[in-house]
Amino acid sequence: MDFDIKTNEKGNLSIGGADAIELTEQYNTPLYVIDEMKIRDNYRRVYEAFSSQYDKFKIFYACKANTNLSVMRILEQEGSSIDAVSPGEIYTALLAGFESERVLFTGNNATDEELKFAVDSGVIINLDSISALKRLSKLTDPEEVKISFRVNPKVGAGHHEHCITGGDLSKFGVMEEEAADVYKLAQDLGFAPIGIHTHIGSGILDPEPFMLAVETLMDVAGRVKDEAGVKFEFIDFGGGLGIPYTPDEKKLDLKTFSKEIVGLFKDKLNEYNMGNPTMFIEPGRYIVGDASVLLTKVNTIKQSYRKFAGVDTGFNTLLRPSMYGSYHHIVVANKPAAENTQKIDIAGNICESGDLFARDRPMPEIEEGDTLAIFNAGAYAFSMSSEYNSRPKTMEILVNDGESEIVRERGTFADVLTNQNVPVRLLKK
Ligand SMILES: *Cc1c(COP(=O)(O)O)cnc(C)c1O
Repeated sequence: MDFDIKTNEKGNLSIGGADAIELTEQYNTPLYVIDEMKIRDNYRRVYEAFSSQYDKFKIFYACKANTNLSVMRILEQEGSSIDAVSPGEIYTALLAGFESERVLFTGNNATDEELKFAVDSGVIINLDSISALKRLSKLTDPEEVKISFRVNPKVGAGHHEHCITGGDLSKFGVMEEEAADVYKLAQDLGFAPIGIHTHIGSGILDPEPFMLAVETLMDVAGRVKDEAGVKFEFIDFGGGLGIPYTPDEKKLDLKTFSKEIVGLFKDKLNEYNMGNPTMFIEPGRYIVGDASVLLTKVNTIKQSYRKFAGVDTGFNTLLRPSMYGSYHHIVVANKPAAENTQKIDIAGNICESGDLFARDRPMPEIEEGDTLAIFNAGAYAFSMSSEYNSRPKTMEILVNDGESEIVRERGTFADVLTNQNVPVRLLKK
């Protein structure tokens, strides 16, 4: 297995040096536990792999994976920049202490109000369409704003069809064939574009499609440079670096991966005489995916047509299994090394048949009162959570070297009801 499951001397799961069962006693369940050192290690591993080969290199953490302010603070301290996909994420990034030059706004189908918000925030604006370019030109002095374009390079990849963001079915970006014309149009409107961007998909463990995207984007950049005379300050290959979720998936070989990408990048810079632009990548999942565990307590064992272990949360808290059919590894936190003896469904508490964390999963014996640990719940986990079934959002804690702190309080019924208004005529009896 290519991710670690640590058992402490009490026989319980250890997360960042803290005892998972003691955490549930202190904070209750369901509980997201974020391991600070995992985030720092992941960031440093990526930074080292790329920057050791090309020193003008920056990581723009794609914060939609996990926007917890403490996670953002940790990455700010590490020196990261931020890829933000909405005004709310720009706001969160600025609040977390990122200067505006460290924030790239990659909107899609952005409204005029959203573009204006990005302009006022002073962030770099990565445009997704000619429409957005034209509308932006009317909202601001083009000389005052730094822009780039997202190019769709006709290649896509990802762990699920919803996660493929390049290729001829994808809604994102401008077509590679029209790129040079789009940059010329931007110049005609008074902009001086500084970058080019692509992001082909998510959960990529195979370097092949990523390499193809790098090659295509570099060829497009070369053409844009030759035909429109753009001098790129940055070339951004997006995110998508995958992590193993199942026991038989292998970790990305980051050294080989970065070597191949940087090698190709440098060759293409030479081929097109593009100077030394900064290379950006935008990992989200890779930085935070394995850094959190979701702890949930089994309250019901039921043998009906199938055998179920029912737990105290559901897809309101972790959507990926229901939405993408994603596998998340699950262990019994009070006996993480126990042998599997059965196949069982792990069911959430939301009133939907699709609310399952696992179907027919080989597991050890499970009893009511056991705590389950759902792994790799750091990316697209809390950030996709909802209050469906009027269940308040769950608590997040941060662990570091055995110590724990609350970084998001448990939601309340008042939160679920917030912002509602009942017309007075409906109140009259
Ligand atoms: C979501 C997203 C990413 C991050 O994708 P990961 O698979 O989490 O690395 C990067 N860039 C853009 C534009 C995105 O929308």
